[in-house]
Amino acid sequence: MIDRVMVIGNGACAHRIASLLLTRGQGVIHVTREDRFSAPDTASPDLKALERLTNTTIDRCEGHTGAFRITATRNQTCLQRTAAAVIIAEEPVRQSNIERYGLSCCPSVYSVSQISNRTQDSIGKANGFGDRLQDKRIAFLIGLHREAHPACFAETLKAAHRLQSAGCRTCILSKNLKVAGNGLEAGVRDYKKAGGIVFKFSGQLPRFITANGHPAEIEFTDEVTREAQLLHPDIVVVDETLCPSPYLERLGRIFALDTDGQGYLQTGNVHRLSVMTNRRGILAAGPSRSIQTEEQEEADAGAAAITALSPAASRMIEETDAKAEIDSSRCVRCLTCFRLCPHRAVSVAARVTVAPEACEGCGICTSECPRGAIRIAHPDQSEITESISRSAAGMRGVENAPFLVAFCCSKSAAMAAEQAAAAGRSLPENLQTISVPCAGSISMDLILTSFRLGARGVLVLTCHEGNCRSERGNRFAGERAARVSSILSEIGMEKERIGIDSLAANMGADFARRVRLFEQRIKALNTER
Ligand code: SF4
Ligand code: SF4
Repeated sequence: MIDRVMVIGNGACAHRIASLLLTRGQGVIHVTREDRFSAPDTASPDLKALERLTNTTIDRCEGHTGAFRITATRNQTCLQRTAAAVIIAEEPVRQSNIERYGLSCCPSVYSVSQISNRTQDSIGKANGFGDRLQDKRIAFLIGLHREAHPACFAETLKAAHRLQSAGCRTCILSKNLKVAGNGLEAGVRDYKKAGGIVFKFSGQLPRFITANGHPAEIEFTDEVTREAQLLHPDIVVVDETLCPSPYLERLGRIFALDTDGQGYLQTGNVHRLSVMTNRRGILAAGPSRSIQTEEQEEADAGAAAITALSPAASRMIEETDAKAEIDSSRCVRCLTCFRLCPHRAVSVAARVTVAPEACEGCGICTSECPRGAIRIAHPDQSEITESISRSAAGMRGVENAPFLVAFCCSKSAAMAAEQAAAAGRSLPENLQTISVPCAGSISMDLILTSFRLGARGVLVLTCHEGNCRSERGNRFAGERAARVSSILSEIGMEKERIGIDSLAANMGADFARRVRLFEQRIKALNTER
């Protein structure tokens, strides 16, 4: 039995996750590509429960939740490990903004992480770096050229406060300072109480007068007093831009994870816990999924550890027993299903197979398999066509009430349809609603077959954009509806006979209104094929 969890990363969040897992008796493989861990292992009474690997980069991941097979390189040697779950908490990279301010690296210019790291433990120590800064005038620059993330501002505020309390004379110069709502108000208040000054700029930015790249003077108008100011800092501390590391992007590709627009892992799907990704058993925590404050990272570490410890929590919020199955005798190994599956449940070895543990039952793979080799219960595509055929047979001859088929995503529009029916709302007389696991499972073939069987109009109802439990099901549905629309035009039918719309589960009244509007549109076409 595989009972270890792999934790990837070397920051505070990764260490916290490893520690939480170990204290609950969970075996951990802690991996970093760096040459040493930034924190000692303090949580493991049983050293056998913990394996720590430095200088290790992940190369490949196969398998599925409960049994991932991970290949890595350590000191140029290949190694393999198995893990029940993987948690990625890889630190972002920091890009110094020193040059953006027209400054250059020198003994009087630091980036905020440099000053944080060097003063953290050295203040109060004789001849320590922090002690040598006593009485110095220190100006912190944050967000003057690019909006600063609250986590970066929190770090700047902490460093400035620490130095102010240690006897330095500090000030913070900032634009776009988002304090409210980010829990930073108290920090700003305490910093000011300690004697720190915050200058905020909404218009004219300060001017830096440098001598050979060294900050000599900072000239500006104080927007509160309207007075001209000229600072002569001994030291200038400049903010940094945090962004996902190239290694994090590589991990995203290796583990086949969705990313957001910036390259952070996972897409913030509202149907899953925040640390979950599009793949069961692979979690993204803390700095791997966004820039976070220390408090947010701590919360993420707890959520990731709990999710990894609880197999039930690592699943989607609703579990399904409808799993895709591939009939090997029909499969031609085109790998379409492998490429399309948003949850990476399809494996390719001697045969193409679906891992039931990883399959979410969305049916997206079934819609594009060129051989019809994938079967998924609830409902099977042949059952759907039989049902449409039966309905069509019963409706022939009804000219004023066209036969309409509405394919509804079971997680959204199908629930709205049930609400509309339960509330007794007026619906088209000859409307057949068909609930499908995901709108992405509706194939072009199924839509065209509906027309062939007698439907006068086909409506595809998806969940809203960005709200699909299978990440891209509604997008696939939209693309297929557009292609069917073109085909209808090519064969001489009105392209308006195919419609696509989105609904949330609680939009029963909207469901009724939109299907009635669709019926009017089809009646208006008034053309017999
Ligand atoms: S899409 Fe169908 S034919 Fe292609 S690999 Fe998958 S099961 Fe086989
Ligand atoms: S049903 Fe969905 S999750 Fe399952 S194998 Fe097919 S595409 Fe993947």
